[in-house]
Amino acid sequence: MSLSHELGLSETYSAFINNEFQPTITGQSFEARHSSTGEQLARIARCGKVEVDVAVQAAASAFPGWRATPPEERSAMLLKLAAAVEADLPRLARIDSIDIGRRLFETELDHRFAISQYRYFAAAAITHEGFGRPIPGGYLVAKREPYGVCGQIIPWNVPAIMTAFKIAPAVAAGNTIVLKPDENASLSTLELCKHVAEIFPPGVINIVPGFGEEAGAALTAHPGVSKLAFTGSSEVGRIIAGAGAERLVPVSLELGGKSPNIIFPDIDDIDAVVDNAMFATMYCNGQSCLAGTRLFVHDAVYDAVMERLVAGMERVKIGSGLAPDTVLSNLVSAEQGKRVLGYIDIGKAEGARLVTGGRRVPVEGHEAGYFITPAVFEAHNRMRIAQEEIFGPVLSVIRWKDYDQMIEEANDVRYGLAAGLYTTNLRNAWETADRLQAGSVWINQYFNLASGSPFGGFKESGIGSEYCHETLNMYTHLKAVTIQTQVAQPWFAPRS
Ligand code: ADP
Repeated sequence: MSLSHELGLSETYSAFINNEFQPTITGQSFEARHSSTGEQLARIARCGKVEVDVAVQAAASAFPGWRATPPEERSAMLLKLAAAVEADLPRLARIDSIDIGRRLFETELDHRFAISQYRYFAAAAITHEGFGRPIPGGYLVAKREPYGVCGQIIPWNVPAIMTAFKIAPAVAAGNTIVLKPDENASLSTLELCKHVAEIFPPGVINIVPGFGEEAGAALTAHPGVSKLAFTGSSEVGRIIAGAGAERLVPVSLELGGKSPNIIFPDIDDIDAVVDNAMFATMYCNGQSCLAGTRLFVHDAVYDAVMERLVAGMERVKIGSGLAPDTVLSNLVSAEQGKRVLGYIDIGKAEGARLVTGGRRVPVEGHEAGYFITPAVFEAHNRMRIAQEEIFGPVLSVIRWKDYDQMIEEANDVRYGLAAGLYTTNLRNAWETADRLQAGSVWINQYFNLASGSPFGGFKESGIGSEYCHETLNMYTHLKAVTIQTQVAQPWFAPRS
């Protein structure tokens, strides 16, 4: 039995509109391939303007009914979706693992995180309130109202999380959606549709697979879309923001990162800190906007940290994402693999010292995959490898002595998504967190995305916060309604 059959994948997928996979109009499709064996997993419709238009119309027709659905009912449906994903988690996690090459341990975590998103916004849906207060002669009510049809576009690195980040708050707030998954990672989102069809009314959640310049561009330009939400590169984010500006619709963006991770000299458990720093670099095989890929190490602990870091990186078990002992698996595609190897050459050419890793290695039976040994560079902050988002297991280590200069360098990057720091001094932790220009600062643990913690970027890392109650404000506008108990005295008519 082929892997696709074993995982219950359909041979073909098309746009999911009105709770059905609709026959494609363009007739064009693309392949979803196993990222390390090259085996074809399915064919997916390459949607364009026409499919996007049909999907937006379906979402627009569903909007009045969905908006009028009591929040308690919307909430109950999100809880059902969470339960359906939970029951299907082992299969969905395996699909993601082979589709994008990540280890199963991580893709299972992704789906658990997605489940918590559906549950969080199920609760938030019924506690999202406007406000009211008395005014002279009456009362002011500020109501929160959904925008209508939301157009949402996501990347390939964590498809389960991205899908949940977009669907959950938007529909909780009473919007309907048209979502475009990434062309490299559409399968688990399309499989999720099979659960959606059992739970939600037709037209509330619509999915249009395809390419960015086609389905993506058609969605951002569509006049029926009242709100845009995007996660991906800062370059494409700028295009999406431009499309929003063109039609004057609100845009929320979660974009790239090049996060500093800072080791202070007072740490008391070097092994744990190094392990954390490795996790910060290699989670998602380094293909994460949050990755802590600029490691600032204080001079006093530099040699001890480097010794452990290099030994740790060289021990990392590389293999297929489905093998239970794998720590680092393959990058999403040959294109991404070549890009990362290109950055290894750039680092060497600009004078950074490659201490270990940075080579493509073969894995038997997975010859199509790009498995790259984790690379550690000794670098300077202004080097390209320390400034540009590489999206691979490549770490730039930067030695520091002077605190103010280190803070300046940590902030000297166009991004501002996340930052980590390790210290045993509470005041130092607090004051440093205060000075770092980042949407999330993690102290003594990297990637701490506690349920409901606002997640968003400063500077070129984005606009808006996801994963928190505030997100519902991004998916609604405020309407002020004032009530007077009697009609005000005329202002212009002469009094008798
Ligand atoms: P990454 O660097 O993570 O691959 P991208 O920013 O290239 O991220 O892509 C993220 C998402 O944006 C994908 O779903 C992609 O198809 C989509 N996309 C790319 N270009 C455009 C565009 N011009 N308009 C709309 N969507 C786009």
